[in-house]
Amino acid sequence: MSLLRDVGVMLGRAPEKPKQKSDMAEILHARKRGKGGVNIARLIEEMAQAKSVHTWRNRRWAVLIGVNLLFTLSFFLDIQILEGSLTASRFLGFHMADIYSSLLVMLAEKHVAVNLVIGTVTVFLLWGLIGGRAFCSWVCPYHLVAEFAEMLHVWLAEKGIVQDHAIHRGVRVVFFVLFALLAFVTGHALFLTVNPIGVLSRALVYGPSLALLWVLLLLVFEVVYSRRAWCRYVCPIGLTYGVLGAAAPVRIRYHLEACAHEGECRKVCEVPHVLDLTIKNRADAAHMDVGPDCTRCGMCVDICPTHSLTFNVKGLDRIL
Ligand code: SF4
Ligand code: SF4
Repeated sequence: MSLLRDVGVMLGRAPEKPKQKSDMAEILHARKRGKGGVNIARLIEEMAQAKSVHTWRNRRWAVLIGVNLLFTLSFFLDIQILEGSLTASRFLGFHMADIYSSLLVMLAEKHVAVNLVIGTVTVFLLWGLIGGRAFCSWVCPYHLVAEFAEMLHVWLAEKGIVQDHAIHRGVRVVFFVLFALLAFVTGHALFLTVNPIGVLSRALVYGPSLALLWVLLLLVFEVVYSRRAWCRYVCPIGLTYGVLGAAAPVRIRYHLEACAHEGECRKVCEVPHVLDLTIKNRADAAHMDVGPDCTRCGMCVDICPTHSLTFNVKGLDRIL
């Protein structure tokens, strides 16, 4: 899949069926259509009996909680390792600033602040290398609370009490432009007030505030109406990191030959459109990288019973 097509899908386009496939992909698809393919019924039965594996989720939660605790400890113990909050911080003296939030501040003030520019360059290099939306699943505190809300949503949906209402993913681009326009026209970066990442990050450092009620409201909306709505359809910060990490070397790799196409990965993924390549007959190459909207959360790696999805660093073979 080309980079441009991947970015188009991230901005809201529906993933397309490939018009052409590599020779190896054609051979593998044909082999799966024939006799002797994977016995999916048996596989699902085995999966039901197997203990769930949460290796990547546990690693991720440990890092996410550790990073956010470091903000709190740096403030309370005055150890100056990681100062500030996720919107703007200093790590061991290096300025870090969230790119989209900095853009809004500069648009609102109509002034280019040197500290913010330095901070965004550091963030640009760091997350461009690690993999854009890895920020979401490995650092963002809203991601963690939204994961718990998602578990509740899935449980209630299984009981038929709630239903997921999907919204067009393109609205995220509309919100991105709208918040920027509002900042420029009103001189006030409204998004920073409603941004749940900033609210939670500040609450962890400076103590709880009434703004937490807004985060609670968002979570209730996600539980009862639309699964992971903020991250999927609104958050311009997630979108910025997605674009930033479009060519990042760290990514999730799909291996067609091993895939049983039972679709467990798409059920756990926050952005399941990136896993459309796992649908039967869809992959156009034997090994493919999933799109830039992927948060590198590792849930699909944990759940895939045939190890068809792996963490990969571009240029290196399977390393993890
Ligand atoms: S999309 Fe936004 S709120 Fe969601 S995890 Fe990413 S940065 Fe956090
Ligand atoms: S593709 Fe896998 S690693 Fe990426 S967001 Fe979905 S579940 Fe997480």
